[in-house]
Amino acid sequence: MREVTCFRFIGRAEVYAIISVFHMLLSSMTNALSILQNTFGYDAFRSPQDEIIDELVQGRDAFVLMPTGGGKSLCYQIPALLREGTAIIVSPLIALMQDQVDALQQLGINAAYLNSTLKVGEARQVEQQLMQGELDLLYVAPERLLNEAMLSLLERCQLALFAIDEAHCVSQWGHDFRPEYQKLKILHERFPNVPRIALTATADQRTRDEIISQLQLEDARVFINSFDRPNIHYAISEGNNPKLRMWRFLQEHHNNDAGIVYCLSRKKVESIAQWLSEQGRTALPYHAGLPQEVRQTHQQRFLREDGVIVVATIAFGMGIDKPDVRFVAHLSLPKSIEAYYQETGRAGRDGEPANAWMAYGLQDVLTLRQFMQNSKADDAHKRVEHNKLESMLGLCELIACRRQALLGYFDEVLEQPCGACDNCVSPPEKWDGSEAAQKVLSTIYRTGQRFGVNYIIDVLTGKQDKRIQQNAHDQISTFGIGSEFSMTEWRTILRQLIALGYIHVDAESHGALKLAELSRAVLRGEKMLQLRKQSKEEKLATEKKKKSPVRPQDEPLWEALRALRMQLAEEAGVPPYVIFHDATLQELVKKRPTIIADMRYISGIGDQKIKRYGKKFLTEIAKYPLADLLDNRLSSTVNETLLIYQEGSSIEQIAAQRDIKVNTIYSHLADAIEVGLLEVKDVLDLKDSEYQEITMMIESLEDESKGRIKPIYEALDEEYEYGIIKCVQASI
Ligand SMILES: [Zn+2]
Repeated sequence: MREVTCFRFIGRAEVYAIISVFHMLLSSMTNALSILQNTFGYDAFRSPQDEIIDELVQGRDAFVLMPTGGGKSLCYQIPALLREGTAIIVSPLIALMQDQVDALQQLGINAAYLNSTLKVGEARQVEQQLMQGELDLLYVAPERLLNEAMLSLLERCQLALFAIDEAHCVSQWGHDFRPEYQKLKILHERFPNVPRIALTATADQRTRDEIISQLQLEDARVFINSFDRPNIHYAISEGNNPKLRMWRFLQEHHNNDAGIVYCLSRKKVESIAQWLSEQGRTALPYHAGLPQEVRQTHQQRFLREDGVIVVATIAFGMGIDKPDVRFVAHLSLPKSIEAYYQETGRAGRDGEPANAWMAYGLQDVLTLRQFMQNSKADDAHKRVEHNKLESMLGLCELIACRRQALLGYFDEVLEQPCGACDNCVSPPEKWDGSEAAQKVLSTIYRTGQRFGVNYIIDVLTGKQDKRIQQNAHDQISTFGIGSEFSMTEWRTILRQLIALGYIHVDAESHGALKLAELSRAVLRGEKMLQLRKQSKEEKLATEKKKKSPVRPQDEPLWEALRALRMQLAEEAGVPPYVIFHDATLQELVKKRPTIIADMRYISGIGDQKIKRYGKKFLTEIAKYPLADLLDNRLSSTVNETLLIYQEGSSIEQIAAQRDIKVNTIYSHLADAIEVGLLEVKDVLDLKDSEYQEITMMIESLEDESKGRIKPIYEALDEEYEYGIIKCVQASI
């Protein structure tokens, strides 16, 4: 009935128009989906990728805030293929353009780049291709794009769209500010009919507004994706000796993984890289003081080799496309939550579990506090910097869920604590630190607000010290009243008082501690102060060991496929993940396709990849057939037992080899018996009569035992091992 009513009111012509628009929309989305599946090899879009693509295909602008690893680039790559003409991608990351273009060419897409690394002849050739409409995508550095010759060249071409990547570079408040980005508004003025998309992985409200106004994107539809990165585990580790703590963290969780370690100064970068190398890891320094070629080589090695650690200042990482960075460690505190979020966001872009680990201590707080005061920025900038630092310190001292606070900073509400950050996993202990705080504050006051941390602690703990005696500070009432705490404990208390803003660190008088306004209420006893107890360092060690990404029986094939991928990557001169992501290899290992047609069902394998690599991978997979016994869904540890059992070892031998109890081995085999992979009589050396005796006992005690072995074991006069009974039970 409804349709009929429609016809009456809006007329036939309008209905046809609506139907045709609907058709166009539908067909553009079907096309987008088929490109996603056939070219990129993925099943379905992640929301809101499809909506963004549609917006651009319809010729409208879009502003996209999406965390790293959210699939940002597909949002312009697919419209670039759907729309007539060439898509121009503006990016500040010259060093990465080659890899981006290589990856697209691997997919059979016509892509090229123009930047200062090309020779004149090469650049001319790319311009020729552009003029002749041979390119789907062209990556351009902003300074290149803005030169008049380039702009007028573009005016003579058909353009599909402009994509402005890393759009937060437009913000003069951010740490990635690029003045030429502000000039990009010219694109709107000179090419009013070409749709634009601006993308960034991080932006608070202020930066968002700035991007929109600077780039004249007022009419753009804004897409804000969740900033949550559920696969990243956040941990902020407090205490002494950050270097050793980091080493323990690496040993425990990332024995041969690729990762990034951030430090504040170049000197520290160099020394940590060297130290890690001495410990046997491949660790490369990266900072702005190194020659361009060295930086380039180190970045390339990070992208192309396995298990490389880059130790870097913040100069490293923007736009790094490496999907399998398993950890980001901070040995210095970032200056803002945006920076922390962005830097940690470089871990786990493939969606697999990753760690964001940070060491944090009193010295970091002192350094940053003084650093901020010495800043040469104007007052407005200083205020912004100051507020950002306050939020960062707040995150470090937090007792509640880190993820909730992090997302809250980006105006996103997470209803429940995440259950996966350090504070959720092992909640820090709180204690009433009011009295301790009063002791510290009055010592600072009584010594004239002229001394630094160590002196104050010495007075509190009553240290016999010449300087203290000369100043007659051994005579004041707070001398030695803090002997209930150790030096380390006092440092933890002071760190919190400084971080939380009760104590001010004066950079001009060499880090002298002064009372801040906030401290009055504490001194007067009007305010109760909850402090964090120093966490115990063993905690990290008790966390679960990192599991292998594949089952034990798949290890040989997994290694073989990785080696094949590395070899193909070297031949093609691209990073291994450009051939296949880890997740794709894992799926290959799990599904073990035997014919080309089966490869299509594996995520991340499209037409071009099948054509290029399909046969090679099938051949390799065929070399590692899986025994029927090992083709199962049982746990890793069971499979490890089965793997040894299969080679003909006895149960006692397996137990010895694996260093676990004989009964545990029996119960592993019982699992395999239960799912029909093993015959009980092959496993156990039992006479028929013995087998029957046990079976009968199990059946007769069924109601009483309720699946427990003990009653049966006792009823059989403890004649048969627990494990034997378990295996028989599994076979019934
Ligand atoms: Zn949490």
